[in-house]
Amino acid sequence: MTDNRNNDFDFREVTDDERVDIQDTPVDVVDSGNTDDTTAKDESAKSDSENKDGSGSQEYEDVCFVCRRPESKAGKMFHLPNNISICDDCMHKTMDAVSQFDYQNMLNNPNLMNELNKHSGMPNMGFFNMGDLTNGNFNMGGGIPNSQKIKKKSEAAAKPAFDIKNIPAPHKIKAKLDEYVIGQDQAKKVMSVAVYNHYKRVATDTMDEIEIEKSNILLLGPTGSGKTYLVKTLAKLLDVPLAIADATSLTEAGYIGDDIESVVSKLLAAAGNDVEKTEHGIIFIDEIDKIAKKKNTTSRDVSGESVQQGMLKLLEGSNVEVPVGAGSKNAMVPLATVNTRNILFICGGAFPDLEEIITQRLNKQTSIGFDADLKDKYEDDPNLLTNVTVEDLKKFGMIPEFLGRLPIICSLQALTKEMLVQILKEPKNAILKQYQKLLALDEVDLRFDDSALEAIAEKALEKDTGARALRAIIEEFMLDIMYEIPKDENIGRVTITRDYIEGKASPLIEIRGEAVQPKLPQFNVEQATNA
Ligand code: ADP
Repeated sequence: MTDNRNNDFDFREVTDDERVDIQDTPVDVVDSGNTDDTTAKDESAKSDSENKDGSGSQEYEDVCFVCRRPESKAGKMFHLPNNISICDDCMHKTMDAVSQFDYQNMLNNPNLMNELNKHSGMPNMGFFNMGDLTNGNFNMGGGIPNSQKIKKKSEAAAKPAFDIKNIPAPHKIKAKLDEYVIGQDQAKKVMSVAVYNHYKRVATDTMDEIEIEKSNILLLGPTGSGKTYLVKTLAKLLDVPLAIADATSLTEAGYIGDDIESVVSKLLAAAGNDVEKTEHGIIFIDEIDKIAKKKNTTSRDVSGESVQQGMLKLLEGSNVEVPVGAGSKNAMVPLATVNTRNILFICGGAFPDLEEIITQRLNKQTSIGFDADLKDKYEDDPNLLTNVTVEDLKKFGMIPEFLGRLPIICSLQALTKEMLVQILKEPKNAILKQYQKLLALDEVDLRFDDSALEAIAEKALEKDTGARALRAIIEEFMLDIMYEIPKDENIGRVTITRDYIEGKASPLIEIRGEAVQPKLPQFNVEQATNA
């Protein structure tokens, strides 16, 4: 036994010298007959296995066998046996040439055939066989080797924060949202729970007698308060496709405008035409208040009430046939059937006149009796929308069936000055951070005084468009900074002050390596615009 084992291990005792010898044996790949064949087989076997597991060839672009252009230049390739790829152009050219060639005449012409056979050294001229290319002298190792191909740009697959099949608890979803969305605590809480329940329902997919109902959401909130942003962030975190549609463009089928089902087709496009992914996506329909029932109208309300009615089926869950890769159905477009049962619908709107309806109701409730409130108590309340009830929405013009399919109603608060300042500097991709990063690339340190941020927020509040105004204001004054600073390489730090925002002074500029602030030619917004 012991001896046997020793024999088994005998191969270990090959000396280093021998090993070097083996490796050093020259292998003639091109010329030697037999060796060549085996190498060719090895190569093609290797490339076959690479293709099977997909690891080798997927990293490389295919190269056209005829013109040698890579896939990125030549476009989609035809794949022939033996790993040969031919680009569309060359394929067509070959086909054209083949179809124009007069074979019959050639074969019937004995003189021409004899001449050809003489030159080819073969007894008879056979047709060109692609398979031959992998054998003998035409060793292509199965198409073009990877070494001659361009490596595809690797698309860094963004890892989703959450897995919808194993959705985390609502507090974790909210914690993630907190990193991006400032304030709106109640809305974030409601959305986290709704999304948690929705995807749990999708994951379990139980259809017994206790059927969990869909938790579509209605988001109310003033313009620029972050409705779209909240939904976008949520979809990104969950890595589900998101379609954002505008209710104003929707009309009843058959009228000018987008069909209601076009929202599903948008989602299909966002999911890369993957029906399964589409069925787990989110559809956000903005400006939903614009499809309220029109008051005092005798004509058919094709863009209001009819749209609400048309949406009922979608919201509840039904099979819809949607065009693939186009906005409307026509004979040329293939159709895909999408089931909307597991699609989460979120409708959003500013509902501008709703505040009046709420005020009236609240005033009515509190204006009778000894503890009647002052009449204008609710008039200037920016967060009046948080008191909304289904009755108010019905009064506004939303039909009861529609509201019944949006069981979760949540309101976003109007942004305050403090929130606007936070939005400027705190979110992960805050605007200020973006500018700081841009200037950091020029090795300039950009700073903002707290009072400057307050000044920006005050200006934004005046515009009454929520956080949307922030970007416009910052773009306006940062233009000069971004234009002037790269002119002088000595500038090391720029501090934006309140005075600069208000156009009273220029920003503080510090030269690299100097502690004292030097006097530099001043520039500010007003000077720049006057010039
Ligand atoms: P709307 O409520 O009208 O849909 P948006 O969601 O489009 O408003 O908001 C406009 C922009 O303002 C967003 O792209 C986002 O950058 C910013 N924003 C709005 N609200 C917030 C918020 N609460 N936190 C962080 N950024 C916000």
